[in-house]
Amino acid sequence: MENGETIMPDQTARGLGGFSERVRELTPEGAYHVLAKAQAFEAAGRRIIHLEIGQPDAPTFEHIARAGVRAIEAGETRYTAAAGLPALRAAIAEDAGRRRGISVQPSQVVVGPGAKPALFFPTLALIRPGDEVIFPDPGFPTYEAMVRVAGGVPAPVPLREDHDFSYDLEIFDQKLNRRTRMIVLNSPSNPTGGVMPLPALEHIAKAAVERDLWVLSDEIYARLVYDAPAPSIASLPGMQERTILCDGFSKIYAMTGWRLGFGIMPEALAERVELLLTHSVGSTANFTQLAGLQAIRGPQGPAEEVVARYRERRDALVAGLNAIPRARCRLPQGAFYAFPNVSAFGRSAEWLADYLLEEAGVAVLPGTAFGLNGEGHLRLCYANSLENLQEASARMGEALAEL
Ligand code: PLP
Repeated sequence: MENGETIMPDQTARGLGGFSERVRELTPEGAYHVLAKAQAFEAAGRRIIHLEIGQPDAPTFEHIARAGVRAIEAGETRYTAAAGLPALRAAIAEDAGRRRGISVQPSQVVVGPGAKPALFFPTLALIRPGDEVIFPDPGFPTYEAMVRVAGGVPAPVPLREDHDFSYDLEIFDQKLNRRTRMIVLNSPSNPTGGVMPLPALEHIAKAAVERDLWVLSDEIYARLVYDAPAPSIASLPGMQERTILCDGFSKIYAMTGWRLGFGIMPEALAERVELLLTHSVGSTANFTQLAGLQAIRGPQGPAEEVVARYRERRDALVAGLNAIPRARCRLPQGAFYAFPNVSAFGRSAEWLADYLLEEAGVAVLPGTAFGLNGEGHLRLCYANSLENLQEASARMGEALAEL
């Protein structure tokens, strides 16, 4: 360089014209940051209880894993059609449709590596620069990321703790305007565990029909429910034609690392999303898809047992949290997260998460990792052993008593 400066890696792109608007404001998921810190403590010999990561603690069910291994041994290791194996698309159409009481054609199903492509690619296909997208705050961080990458305008709407973390419908109505193009729903929710009640879904569906809006309904936790089924907005009159359902195998079948998910959407949109898959990931691993086929067609007992175990753990963790003076936690109806309110401690959620890691050896996420409205809360994943959850509650109680 002219003045003899050394070129640092982060300056290189700037020197070459800088990063695109599209990626400049992307940030990592909060869990990675906390995990790295927790691992540094572990390397120094501390025992950390991990409640920060959102994935099943159990391995992939044996019969599913065996199907994947058999597929590899049989040479099922080649490209498939970008939208997925016809047999898997047909099985998903039947299974996901039956569970929601709707009729789904295989041509409406797009299989991808995880559920995330079923969020990202329909958004890329539909959102034009300046289009506004409503999504939950606190909510899964990918929602804001995908809207930004598509050039859209994020329009976060707060969830209300006193409405079981459903949308604040007054603010929802205020946010709707002529630039609104899509509404994102996530029920059961990450990070709150809340399930949206039917009247709230009906309110949103009415607005979507009146204003001709798309709804992207992330239902990845649909089968992780403990007290009642989570209704799907796609089942409401007039909604299937404007709804993109996102679901997958990661959570219910403990297959996070296999990367398998799907979207269900009107056929014309499915064709566009298939093209995006063709030109980005190509296709989902052949043997992963065959393992997924076995997951759907095989016995559902293991999944049901896991849900029963999560319910027991939820009850134990929430009781443990509510026994801590000044903490209060609603009973989450779904997913595997508790979202206690810790605002009475008078510290930020981020400060408290750091404090609990350092003082109690318990890794949790601050609610603000999911949006500004997550302040005053922590997210704890209870896909963990009962012993660990009880020990974590006790350790957190002791550390918080010091404040
Ligand atoms: N949607 C939500 C709400 C999630 O919590 C997750 C994973 O944490 C996903 C989507 C992504 O799932 P997958 O790992 O199958 O891509």
